Amino acid sequence: MASSYPRIVRDITVERCEKFLSRNFYSDVNLFSQLYKEREDSKKYIELYVYSVPDLKRIPFEEAIKSKYTKAERGDSFGPSWSTHWFHINVKIPGNWKNEEVHFLWDSDNEGMIWTVEGVPLQGLTGGYGNDRRVEYVLTRSCKGGETFEFYLEMACNGMFGNGNNTIGPPDPNRTFRLNTVELGVPNKDAWGLFYDFQIILDMAKEIPHDTVRSAQALYVANNIVNVFQPGDNKTILEGRKIAQEFLKNKNGSTQHKLTAVGHCHIDTAWLWPYDETKRKVARSWSTQVGLMEIYPDYKFVCSQAQQFEWLHEYYPKLFDKVKEKSDKGQFCTIGGTWVEMDCNLPSGESFCRQFLYGQRYFEHNFGKRSKVFWLPDTFGYSAQLPQIIKGAGLEYFFTQKLSWNNINKFPNTTFYWIGIDGTKVLTHMCPAESYVSQCTAGELINSVRNHKDKEYSNESLLVFGNGDGGGGPLASMIERLQRLKDIDGLAKVEMGSAEEFYERLEKNSKELVSWKGELYFELHRGTYTSHGRIKRYNRKSELLLRDVELLSTINFIKLQTENKDKDSTFNYPKKELDKLWKYVLLNQFHDVLPGSSIEMVYDDATKFYKEVEKTGNILLENALDELFKISKSAESAKKGLLAFNTLGWNRTEVIEVPVHEGLGKLPQLSKDKKSGFVLVNDVIGLGAQGVGLGIPDNFTQVNACVINDLFCLQNKYISAKFDKHGRLVSLIDLDLKSNRELIPEGQYGNKFNMYEDIPLFWDAWDVEIYHLQKGHEAGLGTVKIIETGPLRASLLLESKISKTSTLRQVISLTAVSPRIDFDTTVNWDENRQFLKVEFPFDINNDYATYETQFGFIRRPTHYNTTWDSAKFEVCGHKFADLSEYGYGVALLNDCKYGYAIHENVMRLSLLRAPKAPDAHCDIGTHKFKYAILPHACSFLESNVVREAYQLNVPLIIRTTSEEIAQAYDTRSYFTISNAPNVILDTVKRAEDSGEIIMRLFEAYGGHAKAILTSILPLEHIYETNILEDNTCHINYHRQNGAIINFRPFQVITLKVTLREQEWTFL
Ligand SMILES: [Zn+2]
Repeated sequence: MASSYPRIVRDITVERCEKFLSRNFYSDVNLFSQLYKEREDSKKYIELYVYSVPDLKRIPFEEAIKSKYTKAERGDSFGPSWSTHWFHINVKIPGNWKNEEVHFLWDSDNEGMIWTVEGVPLQGLTGGYGNDRRVEYVLTRSCKGGETFEFYLEMACNGMFGNGNNTIGPPDPNRTFRLNTVELGVPNKDAWGLFYDFQIILDMAKEIPHDTVRSAQALYVANNIVNVFQPGDNKTILEGRKIAQEFLKNKNGSTQHKLTAVGHCHIDTAWLWPYDETKRKVARSWSTQVGLMEIYPDYKFVCSQAQQFEWLHEYYPKLFDKVKEKSDKGQFCTIGGTWVEMDCNLPSGESFCRQFLYGQRYFEHNFGKRSKVFWLPDTFGYSAQLPQIIKGAGLEYFFTQKLSWNNINKFPNTTFYWIGIDGTKVLTHMCPAESYVSQCTAGELINSVRNHKDKEYSNESLLVFGNGDGGGGPLASMIERLQRLKDIDGLAKVEMGSAEEFYERLEKNSKELVSWKGELYFELHRGTYTSHGRIKRYNRKSELLLRDVELLSTINFIKLQTENKDKDSTFNYPKKELDKLWKYVLLNQFHDVLPGSSIEMVYDDATKFYKEVEKTGNILLENALDELFKISKSAESAKKGLLAFNTLGWNRTEVIEVPVHEGLGKLPQLSKDKKSGFVLVNDVIGLGAQGVGLGIPDNFTQVNACVINDLFCLQNKYISAKFDKHGRLVSLIDLDLKSNRELIPEGQYGNKFNMYEDIPLFWDAWDVEIYHLQKGHEAGLGTVKIIETGPLRASLLLESKISKTSTLRQVISLTAVSPRIDFDTTVNWDENRQFLKVEFPFDINNDYATYETQFGFIRRPTHYNTTWDSAKFEVCGHKFADLSEYGYGVALLNDCKYGYAIHENVMRLSLLRAPKAPDAHCDIGTHKFKYAILPHACSFLESNVVREAYQLNVPLIIRTTSEEIAQAYDTRSYFTISNAPNVILDTVKRAEDSGEIIMRLFEAYGGHAKAILTSILPLEHIYETNILEDNTCHINYHRQNGAIINFRPFQVITLKVTLREQEWTFL
């Protein structure tokens, strides 16, 4: 038959079809206009009362319902930002509505949650017109007409993404939200059905390559549906559905790509809203998902972050029970295995272990199941040590998609084995839809195939769907579309399912998968190694404070259990307190908190938590020391002595500062203000304590400071360093005959401060962009003077105005006993998008530099050869970075920084940034930090850099006690690791579930080791365990000879030690 009208024109027809579904255009005559067949908003049917909670408080349900409510109505506005308004709502269904589904529709442009009158959260609501719009709550599936409903609605005055402008702008404290919609509606199910069909067909027309049959057919069919549609005539909707079905029923062949669709709701534990709002986001999002599980029995939803479950348990116990019920049915699936979805660059190795230990234990205890998939859709790069820790914590698989955000190189793999620095392999999948908030569109199915880089090895992938970041999760419409998308000719097949089963299938069915060795470096968000310097300092200090507390408490615990019991002792291993403090530290490692990318309110809370860690941690440390050093008993004694505890596993000789104390003898060197002095702690044993004498040995070579030819010199028996009058290092010479040469290249300066303009493309707190290197200048110069001249410590004071608005004060010091030069720095910082770095050029040649990572190190290029090399223009390092050549090297150490850049022969440490979003005041104020340079003979692998970096970060603990106690103290080491200088004993703690002792050790230099562990404590058996403290094998232990522990390169080994005389008492 010949057509009586012109050939359809693609672009015009596509737009015509788009307008057919539009909310904004022709919505009185298009399909959108037919979605509700009845609507009613009169006060006759909806009564509304409100209680506005004062002072931005978030109150519990029980308190809210007792409050005084006043009348409210549509059109009212509510605010300010972050305030809460509770509504008591009575609804009557119109008498003439019979056997219909009835929706309660509510749009106040912010977030809300519906509660039963008994206090059970029912469903979250999201207003506005974004993708995450969720304004309908199903009152009944079939009404009688005339019946009434009573419920509460808790309104939160923030959007899904907080209260900022332009997504990441700092929050506006004065927003108000208008109640635009409150009404009852009867949906036209046929119209909704056609709506979903049509979305898919139109999307196929647009997204399938236009030269294919299916794309052409799809457009033709969509156009036909528009042609038959008549508003107000339901028969034409049914006819449209028939046309749609004819098209959609065509199935794929057997080779089509297969997707497993997993419902998910990424809730940032804090970001553009504070932690307290997250607790409510969890309830809003998860109550909704539980509701969807009732309607769709095939629907599976995965959720990570044990912390959020713990909050749910505490604040919404009734909802927690429902979640548990759905978990038992296999619909609500816990995943991830960590306490929060943490940053994976900055936390220490031990913090990584604790994230899993607390996470996996929580899921196991509360849901009867450990996670097998490490789930991190949104974290900013992944440490090369993770594969070993993932496997060690009982997980098998890894999921992310974040590397799809790389803005220089495209990551080449989708399904592959990720190999860590130690060689551990983890099966990894990065969903090819490149999103963890998929909307279940035909376009996403097409992209999943198009972007899948390993199709020839593995023909399936994950589709992670549901609104996220601010919570929300899947909408019913997504599940409706998925049901239609199962198997349509021209699109990948898709089925809702479980992530775990997906990975198990991958493992079984995939052929010859490719591998990726080393870190998954994220080519974006490089500013997150530096933003919010005080938070990063707290993180480092907290991790190490808890380390010391655990070690000392464990030693006390063992002594009390195994020695003659001290009747007076009240010491208990502070398990409960440690759990609480660790949870604060782990919480703040969330991937928008520690990286520095949250709003100011979040940092107020984070700081509060860290202060508690600092305060309680120090009390616990003092309790443990009191017990060990008998400090309280020494009070009466007139003569005082010093005891030093070395919590590191090797002997140390250091000069340390102690307060001047009455009863203590004369200190060998006083500080400038005479309130403290310096003592030499000579060869104090590892993991033990000894008395500290105040004398200096006869043949001692003292350190010196002097001025020669306008240069300020610091010299000891190891090195000679010269600074110009502005504090810049102009000469550094190792005095050892073998290495004796100038390390600073002619005409260059070390300790040089540079300021770079730091204006990224969009993600202010997150990004420092590659072009910042083009626009830097030397910071304002300062002046230097000598403040200490030995014999134990010599130092210079540098004071400078580094810009018009910021100042720097720095003590540059060298002790008599080490070649390490310390730079103890205070900066008053007030800048706008400036980046402060300090740099040191050295006459050292290597194409690669070394950076510390969790329990090991990685190498990165010092050149910009390829785009993969130059993309690493700013990288993460922990306590040190090192630049070595054959025979010699220099390490740049720090006590709380994480950003480094080593290019050619110049080492740079990133100090401070000044982004303005999402926290307008980020980093403004005073900062304290320390860095140090450590010249060393030999290249890095043969150096003592790892130990020195620990020493800079873990000071000797020194306390005043009575002279008798100090002199009589048992100076034996509690634990000794010998025969392996490359093995570090990092952690000593009590076991989680018993009175046994856990020790975590690692090989730090990438080589094999045969370490010998001995102890003066009564050890009986030693077992090797995984990170979760499950025994894996027995290790022979001999009372005199100890145990031999064999290490592979970078291996992390956890030991569980049982003690003789097991009469345990627990908290
Ligand atoms: Zn996130």
